[in-house]
Amino acid sequence: MGKRLILVVDDNKINRTLLTRILSHEYRVYGVENGLQALEYLKEYCGEVSAILLDLNMPILNGYEFLEERNKYLPLCNIPIIVQTTHSGLDAEIACLEMGATDFLTKPYSPKVILRRLKNIIMLRENENFITAVQHDSLTNLLNKEGFYVKASKALNENLDTKYLLLCIDIVQFKVINQFAGYQNGDKVLIFVSEILKELFNENALIARFTGDRFQALVPYPIDEQYIDDTIADYKRNPPVDFPLSIQFGIYEIQDRSIPLATMCDWSKMALTPIKGRYKIYFSTFTEDMNKRLQKEQLIVSQMDEAVSQEQFIVYYQPKWDICKNEIIGAEALVRWIHPKYGFMSPGDFIPIFEKNGFISKLDLYVWEEVCRQTREWLDKGFKAIPISVNVSRNDIYSKDLIDNLTALISKYKLDASNIHLEITETAYSQSQEQLTDVVKQLSDNGFVIEMDDFGSGYSSLNMLSEVPVDIIKLDLLFLNKKSADSKNNKSILKLIVNIARELNLDLIAEGVETEDDLESLKEIGCNKAQGYYYAKPMNAKDFEKMLKS
Ligand code: C2E
Ligand code: CA
Ligand code: CA
Repeated sequence: MGKRLILVVDDNKINRTLLTRILSHEYRVYGVENGLQALEYLKEYCGEVSAILLDLNMPILNGYEFLEERNKYLPLCNIPIIVQTTHSGLDAEIACLEMGATDFLTKPYSPKVILRRLKNIIMLRENENFITAVQHDSLTNLLNKEGFYVKASKALNENLDTKYLLLCIDIVQFKVINQFAGYQNGDKVLIFVSEILKELFNENALIARFTGDRFQALVPYPIDEQYIDDTIADYKRNPPVDFPLSIQFGIYEIQDRSIPLATMCDWSKMALTPIKGRYKIYFSTFTEDMNKRLQKEQLIVSQMDEAVSQEQFIVYYQPKWDICKNEIIGAEALVRWIHPKYGFMSPGDFIPIFEKNGFISKLDLYVWEEVCRQTREWLDKGFKAIPISVNVSRNDIYSKDLIDNLTALISKYKLDASNIHLEITETAYSQSQEQLTDVVKQLSDNGFVIEMDDFGSGYSSLNMLSEVPVDIIKLDLLFLNKKSADSKNNKSILKLIVNIARELNLDLIAEGVETEDDLESLKEIGCNKAQGYYYAKPMNAKDFEKMLKS
């Protein structure tokens, strides 16, 4: 970087020369004779000038008038101005400061003082400019995440008497807007929403865009929901893209200011969860209940590794039954977490969390190994070989190690692939179908039996059947909502599925069989395999072994 440029504005030639002499070791200096010349020069070169030394008494636009003019022209306001005064008049100084001057020098000049002050001021301003740039989001010109954290912390610390709300603002279905209208239009929507937010919360609020369509704001309590609704409705009359725009607000009421801002932001985001996907509900406040759930979730995440190494995960077995012969034909392995402090935990409490953070792959591998080891033990004890099904989650399907892991286990415990059935849940079939088809084919080629789990819960299942090499359909009776009055309709759906299975030469098993009635319906339509509480609940290996013996 070359020398910085200083503009000297002074009608006195001697002063200009003197200043030039003092400054020119370290700076380039340009001199003009009055305020008007200065303005003209700045209109062209304002981006290059690092500071202005301004005399007050000049003909044609004096110092005060110059300050007044420059305040009308925003880019100039970024350049620090040092006012030179002959007789240090306090009133003049205050007036100039009020008009935006940065500092003062009194004549006669002291070279050292001038250089030092100039240097300080320039550094200060450049840092400030830099900080403003790194604290803002270039698309919307709102604060970015870093800027928001800095300013919001400051506001919270300085205004202890003000009650604040932290808002997380979400554009409903923004991904879809991006997809269908293109990213450029997506950007337009983001800018549009940032305009709305500025209008809604203006001066007293801090508004930021963190990433994508996640906006955060710190606003004084309370907010006027009706006003917000009306304003948004107003704006929506002139939408930037032809797409129904809807904005939801997650609200966190700040009480304890010692909680890290990032955490509070997360909570405001979490507040959105209950209204996600709900029509015409725009506001939702973070509650103690959500907090408890979150804490439990954090606890689960912090202890999951230890739980595996301490063998707190226990595999339960639920028998699968042949209805006609009335005998066990297999079992499903279902994991439980026996927590040293919280006791028995159902998979519903932790599997969704593990699916989110990826830990499910590790847990599944652990379960598969335990099932293989147990199967080996039962075979060695002379029990009839019955296949045990394990659950394979979506994450596993997309892992490149899936097939290697499974085949390695089979050979480690000297089993046959047919000893293990793989239950792949139906929703996995509806995502990234090509890869899934590919993986399932390979598994099938390796001799594993594939069961399509939770059949009937989605709509893509029927097409899937012709492409993915499935061996068994696992029909979820719970999805058919047994309590509904529409049992006739349910029965015809069941019949249809049974017919399709027969047509495609697939085996069929019904799960969730709870009552004699359920069983009768199954017999009626010709499904003769079942799993459910009617026969037995999931049980530990010891109990299951007893059952095998009897
Ligand atoms: P799923 O694979 O659909 O397993 C069947 C669930 O239905 C089990 O719940 C089982 O206990 C329950 N069930 C069985 N018969 C009946 C019945 O007659 N009535 C009722 N109401 N329920 C019945 P569970 O054990 O709580 O497991 C819940 C889900 O957690 C499983 O659903 C499965 O998706 C997942 N899961 C369990 N263990 C594992 C595992 O090791 N790995 C993975 N990836 N997922 C697992
Ligand atoms: Ca299952
Ligand atoms: Ca199931």
